[in-house]
Amino acid sequence: MGRLSTLGGSEAVDVRFVREWVQEIAAAVGSQKDYLTQLDAAIGDADHGTNMDRGFSAVVAKLATADDLLPGNALTTAGMTLISTVGGAAGPLYGTAFRQAGRALGDGANFDAADLLKALRAGLEGIQSLGAATEGDKTMVDAYAPAVAAFADVVGDGGALIDATVRAREAAEDGMRATIPMQARKGRASYLGPRSVGHQDPGATSTALIFSALERVAGRLVP
Ligand code: ADP
Ligand code: MG
Repeated sequence: MGRLSTLGGSEAVDVRFVREWVQEIAAAVGSQKDYLTQLDAAIGDADHGTNMDRGFSAVVAKLATADDLLPGNALTTAGMTLISTVGGAAGPLYGTAFRQAGRALGDGANFDAADLLKALRAGLEGIQSLGAATEGDKTMVDAYAPAVAAFADVVGDGGALIDATVRAREAAEDGMRATIPMQARKGRASYLGPRSVGHQDPGATSTALIFSALERVAGRLVP
């Protein structure tokens, strides 16, 4: 792992953290592929699991062959790969999130929890500027936005990266479950109107997997 220091909020990681994160995401969306697709079958077109699996498998393959990557480049490359391999709504939305996150990290060789917060925030801004969804619209934003807010709370208190990722994952999962009673106002599910109520949003569910993957990778840094 890319651990340089384990001192509170000052720990810094390198590109290996990004590689491991996308590997964990790929493994999670691979094993939850059918579940994500079932969720999308209820209120969409039954392709979210396939989309996510194809996209993140491509990202892992792409990063495996890229040498001398900086963390920011790795995230940007991940985003561009998602955009080019995944159709539909989620590919461009997640692709933009990773690209913007990569840009926010800049060209440093290392990053810490505060940098990751900036990157996650930039990712959320990317999703919202492209998709125009706000919280309550029953989309990935309902998991992503509270996760970033929870991450920010911990970082703002000088907390450790691992604690920020634990709280972010919890908030993402709460946000994911909170989509069940919502009526969709964005994306394909919005075509169903009131019939979208009572189903968990697939994109909010994959966002929870992304934050859960982040927590596992950060957990490996803890001695
Ligand atoms: P598609 O809807 O094109 O088939 P996916 O099935 O891969 O794409 O992804 C569906 C998910 O994308 C939804 O569950 C929702 O979370 C997310 N989504 C759709 N539209 C938007 C939007 N405008 N903003 C944010 N997220 C969105
Ligand atoms: Mg779909």
